[in-house]
Amino acid sequence: MSESGKHPKPGPGTGPGTGPVTGTVEAIYDAVRRAISGEVPGMTPARGQVAPEVRVFPVRSPTLPPATHTGCYVVGPSEGEGPLLVVDPASPYPEEQAALDAWLDAEIAAGRPLVGIALTHHHGDHVGGAAHLAARLGAPVWAHAATAARLTGRVQVDRMLGDGEVVEVGAVRIDVMFTPGHADGHLCFRVPSGAAIVGDMVAGVGTILIDPDEGDMIAYLASLARLGPWASRLLPAHGLPIEDGPGKLREYIAHRGMREARVAAALDDAGGAVAARALVAVAYADTPPPLWPLAERSLLAHLVKLERDGRAVRTDDGRWIART
Ligand SMILES: [Zn+2]
Repeated sequence: MSESGKHPKPGPGTGPGTGPVTGTVEAIYDAVRRAISGEVPGMTPARGQVAPEVRVFPVRSPTLPPATHTGCYVVGPSEGEGPLLVVDPASPYPEEQAALDAWLDAEIAAGRPLVGIALTHHHGDHVGGAAHLAARLGAPVWAHAATAARLTGRVQVDRMLGDGEVVEVGAVRIDVMFTPGHADGHLCFRVPSGAAIVGDMVAGVGTILIDPDEGDMIAYLASLARLGPWASRLLPAHGLPIEDGPGKLREYIAHRGMREARVAAALDDAGGAVAARALVAVAYADTPPPLWPLAERSLLAHLVKLERDGRAVRTDDGRWIART
């Protein structure tokens, strides 16, 4: 049975606990959700162990189709006693929160208390259950300062994490890497076995949006390059674990390079000042039209990069010209 058959599909801001639509990215996710329905089977990991120190508890979330769930990762022992860290308690939906609550209650009863809630970044499909969980179990929330700033009034962040920091959760040492690009406060968390919880740096299903208002293409490419030698396996927020982390990251960098070349060629071919929107059908001809609002945001992020690289100029009326 499909998820959409089991649950009514609430739109953001329309149901209890769904929270407000707060930014460009969430508004675009909403538009794409309305344009595309259905899910790809086999794209959500089963609840359980994904690394020696990590379990995943997938929750249905207001994410970008074809993904329907966010992997809420739980770092710590799965047997015996010891503390747990939850990364991205993602769902704003009460029934999903209740399922995670019940599961955590059993963990706590078995001697595995929740000692922290870490956030990869501020998007609603990552932080949707954070305030609820923090209030219910009294656990502190950890995130980058830029994430904390964006969550002001929604989620209280108790501890700021930065690049190179080491977080100890019982016997597990977690390395923190600051990976801006998709979001300005994005963090990744690596456990000793070499797996890294990478949030929205890559996706096992669907695509990663770089929105120029909330992200930065140059920073994203630099973060992808840094992640390569750092993590052997990637645990993305959406989709299954990625076994060849460095290979997947090289693929992502090559894909963005290909897209940049297409955007630059489309701008050249325009032969004069042109609106970003007019380039989408050319540079994203391989992308289904319902995704074009999303593609336009990524295209803009590429144009901003080309501008900073000295290859494009923005006119006073917001159009773009190739710089030769
Ligand atoms: Zn995101």
